[in-house]
Amino acid sequence: MDAPVKMGLCPGSCSFKRASDAVPSQGREKTRDMAPQDSLSHSIFRQVGYLTPMSENFQPEPAQAEPPERPARQAMFRGLRLKCPNCGSGPLMRSYLKVRDHCPVCGEELYHHRADDGPAYLTILITGHIIAPLIFFVFFTFRPDPLVMAVGFTIGFVAIALFMLPRLKGMFVGLQWAKRMHGFGRSNDIAGG
Ligand SMILES: [Zn+2]
Repeated sequence: MDAPVKMGLCPGSCSFKRASDAVPSQGREKTRDMAPQDSLSHSIFRQVGYLTPMSENFQPEPAQAEPPERPARQAMFRGLRLKCPNCGSGPLMRSYLKVRDHCPVCGEELYHHRADDGPAYLTILITGHIIAPLIFFVFFTFRPDPLVMAVGFTIGFVAIALFMLPRLKGMFVGLQWAKRMHGFGRSNDIAGG
């Protein structure tokens, strides 16, 4: 290196040298000799306003591998159909309301779910909003016998609630799986799944 080149703003053992610090007559040649990425780095550092300490062997850290995205809507819809939120084909439940520990098709862990009272709350909320307007409509339109109304709507309410409860629980499990709540996805992320 024949041209006396001063160090730039970078402290320490930085390899970047400003072309403007070189001797004026040698300056242009020095700029030409620089690798394209060095010129690019210099322009970026000049814009930022400072140089950071770097060594000759500086390597940018590889980006942390992001776990694969899990579409929440698709997982919740699969749960509504009582299917595994991961593969969409394995059955989610082993009995009326018992969620399987693992999916029999893809082996996905399902025992992490914590649906708790959520499905029951949603079932009452939705069924109530279906039944309440229906009661008004039937009463004011047909004026049926109160006993008939009470029995009919009780059976109707229970039937709708029993139909919706496991499906809403499946939806909750799907949401928790998609959002990696309560340990969902911990082992799969390590395995890369
Ligand atoms: Zn599955």
